[in-house]
Amino acid sequence: MNFCSHCGAADIAFRTPEGDSRERHVCANCNSIHYQNPKIVVGCIPVFEDKILLSKRDIQPRKGFWNIPAGFMENGETVEQGAIREVREETGAKVEIVRLFAIFNIVHVNQVYMIFLAKMSEPIFAAGDETSDVALFKLNEIPFSELAFESNKFVLNKYLEDSNLSSIHIGSYNHTF
Ligand SMILES: [Zn+2]
Repeated sequence: MNFCSHCGAADIAFRTPEGDSRERHVCANCNSIHYQNPKIVVGCIPVFEDKILLSKRDIQPRKGFWNIPAGFMENGETVEQGAIREVREETGAKVEIVRLFAIFNIVHVNQVYMIFLAKMSEPIFAAGDETSDVALFKLNEIPFSELAFESNKFVLNKYLEDSNLSSIHIGSYNHTF
């Protein structure tokens, strides 16, 4: 951090504020403390009949690999609204949330993922701006060797195992390629 987002000063120190236990970016001009905390990523496993919908990434990292549709939550929306919006933006599909399915941390990039199960009422979808392809996969056709991230494998393996669809799966990942 080079400039204070509150007053614009270029006088930022990295120090532990009084009463705190961690170093923070602190503006020496206006004393604003710029806290940095994990970001929430929301997404869905969209389900249509006996198939799930995946999107192929058209952006780095892992361009050309299949992914569970997900993205950063926006201010002013709930996690469910964000997950529905991300599915629509990436895949063009309209979904209804069924329930929360998985929560996992990508610790080294400070992200918390919340993945929902969601129902598609119709098999209507199309690739969005950051997506080169979207497709429905039967459970025995999920492209495990072409998934973008280890965390995708974790979530989809849990989906295959979790026949009664009753638990929330929790994990932590460091994505290395
Ligand atoms: Zn400042």
